[in-house]
Amino acid sequence: MTPESALEIYRLLNAEYPRKDLDADFIQFENPFQILILTILSAQTTDRTVNQIRRPLFLRYPTPAALAGARQEDVEEIIHSAGFYHSKARNIIAASRAIVEEFKGVVPRTMEELVTLPGVGRKTANIVLNHAFGINTGIAVDTHVRRLSQRIGFSDSDNPEVIERDLTTLFPHEVWGDINYLLIRHGRAICTAKKPQCERCIIRRLCRYHLSRHAA
Ligand code: SF4
Repeated sequence: MTPESALEIYRLLNAEYPRKDLDADFIQFENPFQILILTILSAQTTDRTVNQIRRPLFLRYPTPAALAGARQEDVEEIIHSAGFYHSKARNIIAASRAIVEEFKGVVPRTMEELVTLPGVGRKTANIVLNHAFGINTGIAVDTHVRRLSQRIGFSDSDNPEVIERDLTTLFPHEVWGDINYLLIRHGRAICTAKKPQCERCIIRRLCRYHLSRHAA
């Protein structure tokens, strides 16, 4: 894959999937604390599920200080539907406590600081930086981004950190903030995990997976 082809794919997907601020299939949030906590909760579940948790969770615990002082059983009850609720409750309470104790109650704005919080890896940190602060130091690699990157030919790796490095090498910095969103939209609509619908795909002439199946 050349940077030129990657950029053309970006342009095609960007025209196909305009951003909608209130897209119910993406995490809804009002501040950096909310998107941080909801992104931690979104592991192994859907954004739709965490959007349903958002209101009861932040009505009861609106700030890092409030959640830092929560009882784990109470939090587990609220976030139960997100799955893995023991470890997720433990992580979001511990992350809130770290924000209070180490960052004066304010969600940090750097990758280095964010990944020190319990339950926060590069993917979550990239999402928080991008959505809450408009800072793009990398590209969040989730299950859709990984699958599509491999199929399309952006990366040969299965390792999210290597995929992120390949993506940031291929795409110009000014579009990094859109890549996660566009690949998720395309992954949900057309290039699904079960069966990619290549005959309906607007980028098939540039896609390694499709081309490999139509080689002369
Ligand atoms: S051509 Fe097929 S494999 Fe490639 S991105 Fe489109 S749907 Fe996915």
